[in-house]
Amino acid sequence: MSSPYITTIGLEVHAELHTNSKMWCGCKNDPTEKKPNQNICEVCMAHPGTLPVANHEAIKKVITVGCAVGGIIADFTEFDRKNYFYPDIPKGYQISQYKLPIVVGGMVNGKALTRIHLEEDTAKSSHDNDGYTLVDYNRAGVPLMELVTEPVIHSAEEAVAFARELQRILRYVEASDANMELGQMRIEANISVSKDKEKFGTKCEVKNINSFASVFGAINYEVKRHIAVYEKGEKVIQETRGWDEAKQETFSQRKKENAHDYRYFPDPDLPKLYLHKLFNIDEIKKSLPELPSVRRERYAKYNLQLNYVDILIDDVHMSNYYDSVLSSVGENNAVLVANYLLSDTLGLLAKDGSLKLPSSDNFAKLINMNIRGELSSRGTKDILAIIMKDDQDPKEYAKKHNLIQTNDTEALKKIIEEVLSESPTQVADYKSGKEAMFMYFVGQCMKKSKGSGNPALFQELLKIALQ
Ligand code: ADP
Ligand code: MG
Ligand code: ZN
Repeated sequence: MSSPYITTIGLEVHAELHTNSKMWCGCKNDPTEKKPNQNICEVCMAHPGTLPVANHEAIKKVITVGCAVGGIIADFTEFDRKNYFYPDIPKGYQISQYKLPIVVGGMVNGKALTRIHLEEDTAKSSHDNDGYTLVDYNRAGVPLMELVTEPVIHSAEEAVAFARELQRILRYVEASDANMELGQMRIEANISVSKDKEKFGTKCEVKNINSFASVFGAINYEVKRHIAVYEKGEKVIQETRGWDEAKQETFSQRKKENAHDYRYFPDPDLPKLYLHKLFNIDEIKKSLPELPSVRRERYAKYNLQLNYVDILIDDVHMSNYYDSVLSSVGENNAVLVANYLLSDTLGLLAKDGSLKLPSSDNFAKLINMNIRGELSSRGTKDILAIIMKDDQDPKEYAKKHNLIQTNDTEALKKIIEEVLSESPTQVADYKSGKEAMFMYFVGQCMKKSKGSGNPALFQELLKIALQ
């Protein structure tokens, strides 16, 4: 039975930008730093008298994401102070953007975006220390992008598909590593249900969701909860909720604060930004990489196994590697390259953690030798395992170890002649109908060529010679 309730969802996604330095100071932006309070200075610790300087690399990354999603890059933008007091926010306010975001509009996975703006991340608090709270400021002031969607998502499935596609885009344009487990991408889901198509229900916002599975779980939980409230004839209260991973439940955190509680105002320490004067937006648009949706369509034309397409599209490094091999091997060999890369190479990697992907040049050389018939598939796999150890030139290795197959028809014919003249009884047997002898001749030829003859070519030539 279909539900009379319509679900409406709007997402707010935060992503830590991948930049060299923090948003307002020269401190290293290093999310891998384990030791607390290493990458801090007077500016990100908000010592009196210090002034922020906006990181243009971060602004450019937000513009790049905006171009990738087809949003409008604002002519004019500014930074605002969002005032609130908490130990993870040393200034007593967060620098964010309120009325004038860098990007307006755009679309991801068919879902309309409201805006993308730039702000700073907070420090990290840890609460379980014998009653004390410890604060690590390495993350304070790291550039943080916030993307907001229109309320146009209608199920948990759609929300997860949206978030996955956004994650791919952020990775393809190298704006963010967007790893949810590491908190580099965090999602807030606004959820409401209503029986009335024309009128939204009251929304609740579930904060800081750290995995796709939790996005899915939290939305479905909220939808069920709202419906149960309405079915009892009660009202949903607008509030901020958290997600309890262990219980798989949302829980009330606080009643929703309003924008005026933050007393937003333009930050007087930072200049206004005329983006089209500061950045060459057309140049940024032109230098966009191929986006995941376009790449997916191109791979679909190659007739790859469906799971190979998914593996490649979800791993931009693997996919770029694959493409660079294809560029020297040719798109007509797309299936062959995918098989060697995603079956053989990944298989070897899974078995032996000390192996590495060879350079794409060496990998392409290996595949080219296979295509030209210089290596059998056995030989190709053996040399693959070698070059995954030390990334050496596969051609040099094959030459040095006499592994190159001979495709020289005349040379192979000579070997065949010798083998056949040395085996008169076997030839007679074959001619009287003992077809199994054929593989005996192939074996003898391979032996005489010391393994260097191309077995497929031997077979072809033997058939002619035995007629
Ligand atoms: P707030 O001022 O409470 O933060 P916004 O209007 O800025 O609310 O919207 C925040 C997010 O909530 C956006 O993603 C928006 O699409 C979504 N949203 C707004 N109203 C609803 C609703 N009734 N149901 C679901 N999502 C909503
Ligand atoms: Mg919000
Ligand atoms: Zn600093």
